[in-house]
Amino acid sequence: MHGLAWMKEVLGEIEAASTCSGLEKVIKVTLRRGELSHHSQEELELAWDLIKKDTICQHAILVIEEEPALIRCPACGWEAGWQSDLLCCQGCGGRVELVSGTDLQLVGIQGI
Ligand SMILES: [Zn+2]
Repeated sequence: MHGLAWMKEVLGEIEAASTCSGLEKVIKVTLRRGELSHHSQEELELAWDLIKKDTICQHAILVIEEEPALIRCPACGWEAGWQSDLLCCQGCGGRVELVSGTDLQLVGIQGI
């Protein structure tokens, strides 16, 4: 999904949540961006600036937390930071799985 389309979806979620909690305006939005996400921090910030105009998020600051990519071997439980080698380094020969670091998530909204 394009960064802009994703941010629009997030804005929709924020608006719905704000209405539910009776917020007048949102002052801070926190996102978590996986290290391997296709969208760069810059792209997300740019998209945010474009779509927040004339919305409840107009003056909200955007905080993007980085989530490191992690791989895990399902056979022996070995875990490590992301690397291109897809075989377990513990010698068990298992094929590692990517367990985190690819997602974009809305993790927090702060409003008044
Ligand atoms: Zn292993």
